[in-house]
Amino acid sequence: MSQKLTILIIEDERNICDFISTSLTAQNYRVLTAQNGKSGLSLIASQCPDLILLDLGLPDLDGLDIIRQVRSWSAVPILVISARTQEKDKVTALDLGADDYITKPFGSSELLARIRTAIRHACRMTKTAESGQIFCCGDLYIDFVKRKVTVRERDIHLTQIEYKIVLFLAENNGQVVTYDALMARVWGPYAGSDNNRILRVNMANIRRKLEDNPAEPRYIQTEIGIGYRMTEGDIK
Ligand code: CA
Repeated sequence: MSQKLTILIIEDERNICDFISTSLTAQNYRVLTAQNGKSGLSLIASQCPDLILLDLGLPDLDGLDIIRQVRSWSAVPILVISARTQEKDKVTALDLGADDYITKPFGSSELLARIRTAIRHACRMTKTAESGQIFCCGDLYIDFVKRKVTVRERDIHLTQIEYKIVLFLAENNGQVVTYDALMARVWGPYAGSDNNRILRVNMANIRRKLEDNPAEPRYIQTEIGIGYRMTEGDIK
């Protein structure tokens, strides 16, 4: 019998907490719950959950402070549960090291898909770098070793910058990547983070090369005001 994965829910709204808890238990996860930040933090330390679902608006602590604290010593996947009123905090949460977010109200299938992606991603990160060499998603293939991108076996010629953008998104496939994280990765920490224009120009070129219809992208989705998300694929 395989060991159950443990998920900690830190959420003060009782009905949301119960709804998530029921959906996860039905999927054979072991569920822990905390109604405030302090008991959440102590459960993280004592129970070492495999994933944390974190509401940003808690009665005692700011969810962002919890991310900051946890990230100082742990790489456990953190999925933020946010309300519409916390749009700005989502970006901050991601830049502090949260893995992804889900906006209330959400359905259980969306939540379960996000959880599976975050856990898969965390498992991949702990494997050796050479374990994954090829990313594939539909007709898109990226060979990390040969640095080659193909769509339906047709070679796609990307500039150095465009390749770096696509590579970073593919490494995080299925998860959102913020504009700032992408800018820092491609242009370095001194890229003016308020200047996303160069990123948008590059993305338009990438989509023209990769997508059949750049207006309805299949591979790279825009998360308005946040960043981009590469459609989930496989890394082999
Ligand atoms: Ca709340």
